Amino acid sequence: MGVDKDLIKKTAQAIRHAKKVVALTGAGISVESGIPDFRGPAGIWEKFDPMEYATIEAFSANPKKVWAMLKEMGSLLEKSKPNPAHISLAKLEEMGYLHSVVTQNIDNLHQAAGSKRVIEFHGSGQRLICMICSRMYERQEVKLDTLPPRCSCNGVLKPNIVFFGEPIPWGAHLEAREEAGNCGLMLVIGTSAVVSPACDLPAIAKRAGATIVEINLEETQLTRYISAWILKGSASLILHALLMEVVAIEKS
Ligand code: NAD
Repeated sequence: MGVDKDLIKKTAQAIRHAKKVVALTGAGISVESGIPDFRGPAGIWEKFDPMEYATIEAFSANPKKVWAMLKEMGSLLEKSKPNPAHISLAKLEEMGYLHSVVTQNIDNLHQAAGSKRVIEFHGSGQRLICMICSRMYERQEVKLDTLPPRCSCNGVLKPNIVFFGEPIPWGAHLEAREEAGNCGLMLVIGTSAVVSPACDLPAIAKRAGATIVEINLEETQLTRYISAWILKGSASLILHALLMEVVAIEKS
């Protein structure tokens, strides 16, 4: 799929002129890093149906079973590296054009790419939390030889991520709503925008007057009523082209 050069130019101008730019990212931005999203074909989700494994009820009922999936996901995450989409966002932040990234991902790839202000809406796979005493552990300090891993108090450890059925971490939720509520431009990248309440953030931004621009391989439920326009294509291709265009405008 070729990149629409006119839309890239229009978006680059919008990035340069907006009072504040915020990116909302979903699993699609990490697909080119080798981490499959929920919807595309293949990989880990053929073996583990997310609806069966990614709910807090499933975890509480059978942590050993869910940990088998988490362990496999974990080794995938350990191998993955940021792709040009993550890197371009980090560069836009460094240049002063991007204020923050609100991500639904738990893969730490924005931070690995150098993004400084990352709001982890669905928590992080880098830390584990005890279901009994809430003690936190760094992922590396916990051995996964026997599943489920346990706390020194013998409570089951859970990755500090938001399973379906769990609330959004209070601080991240508040911050993300604030970012959405006072930005001038929101880039919505690689999300199908069906997981609530993350999918409400573009509507919050739009209601507050922001322009919403989607970057996705395909249209989503936002495209028709919420987004001003969509840049169709892979996130790495589009964001790299956008970065190059912003740099070119700056030089001209
Ligand atoms: P999703 O799987 O529902 O949708 C992914 C979206 O990305 C789709 O609209 C798809 O068209 C688009 N997409 C796929 N590849 C793309 C590419 N190369 N370039 C641009 N767009 C691309 O993901 P979601 O909306 O984020 O919701 C699923 C939930 O599961 C979220 O909480 C998500 O973060 C989580 N999850 C996270 C990871 C991760 O941390 N990397 C992986 C899988 C799921």
